[in-house]
This record gives sequence, C-alpha cells and structure tokens, in this order.
Amino acid sequence: MIIVLFGKPGAGKGTQAPLLAKELKVPTLATGDVLRAAVKAGTRRGLEAKAFMDRGDLVPDSVILGIVGEELGQPRYAPGVLLDGVVRTVPQADGLAKMLETLGRRVDAVLVFDIDNEEIVRRLSGRTVCEKCQTPHMGREPGTACEKCGGRLVRRKDDEPDAIRTRLRVYEEQTAPVLDWYRANGGRVVVVNAVGPVDEITARALEALGL
Ligand SMILES: [Zn+2]
Repeated sequence: MIIVLFGKPGAGKGTQAPLLAKELKVPTLATGDVLRAAVKAGTRRGLEAKAFMDRGDLVPDSVILGIVGEELGQPRYAPGVLLDGVVRTVPQADGLAKMLETLGRRVDAVLVFDIDNEEIVRRLSGRTVCEKCQTPHMGREPGTACEKCGGRLVRRKDDEPDAIRTRLRVYEEQTAPVLDWYRANGGRVVVVNAVGPVDEITARALEALGL
C-alpha cells in the first residue's frame, strides 16, 4: 500500500503522517527529514539541497528521486509506505511511477489535505522548530525553550512570510498540476478537509480512504 500525502506547505501532512502510519502499520518516508539529515551530514547532495531550501524553492527532481529510490529499496518499506513531500512536480510523479513499476508496485492513493492560503500563512508564521530535536511548536516565539528537550526554538528560513509566499506560489505553479496528472493517469485522488482537530482529520482521512 503506497499512499502519497499531498497538500500545501503547512497543511498538516507532517502532523498526520505518523498518526496515519500508526493506524495503517506502514512507515513514512518524509523528504524533509531525509533532506535535513543529508544537510546536517553535509553530504554533496545535502549541500546542494540546502541552497534551494534556504530560498524557499523546491529541491530538484533528480535529488528528490535519488533519495526516494535509495530509501524505498530497504526491506522495511515492503508492506507499504506513506510518502510525505515526495511528489511535488509532474516529472516527479512520472519518475516515481516509473521507479515503482520496476519494483512491481504503484501508488494506490493520493491523499490531499485541503486548506486555504490565509490559514496557511497564519499557521506557518506562528511555527518554530527545536534546533536540537526538530520538534515543531505552534505559537511559541523564537529563542524560547523546547518543551521536549530544552533546546532553543528557531523559525526556519522557509517559514518566514516572504518564503511562505514563494512556497505557495511554487505550489500553485508546480504542485497543483500533479493532481491533474494522477487523475489523468488513472490514479485515485482523495481530498480531505484539513481544518479542525488533529484526531478528527486523521479519522476523516481513514474514512475517505476506505481503510
Ligand atoms: Zn527539542
């Protein structure tokens, strides 16, 4: 079972991914986590990705698909996977489909978390993450302490208002056509209202998927 999690930056994919993974008993593969690990390790691909992320731009397909391909080859993804932040462009969707085909697998559903732009800007500009453990916090000022580990909270460069606007524009231009691509290629696109309590959104998603 391969499900692509989809939605604007800040729609709550990162929050829902582990909750859905627990319910469905499959691991998640989050591009953001994999990229941040590469950036932290200072690998060539990591440094390359960092330059794009700092500007609020998308990381190129070749980098994304390379990372995803390496990951999906691991046995722990045999039962299925929730892909978070992987398919953001039509070439990526196409590239992923071809890669999965060689493994005898396919995307079973695209789960879309639906939310409007105003709510996104309000959410993201109020978000900070822990420098140490990367846990996101809502409505907490940069410089205060992480509730989990005491580390310092910082606002990621791509959560600054200008970067948010760039990310939403990039989403509209590059990412929204991905849904049309899936629909045109026989994919199952499931849309869920992403505004409301976290556990309610999880329940809506499972119901919409018929799982
Ligand atoms: Zn922390």
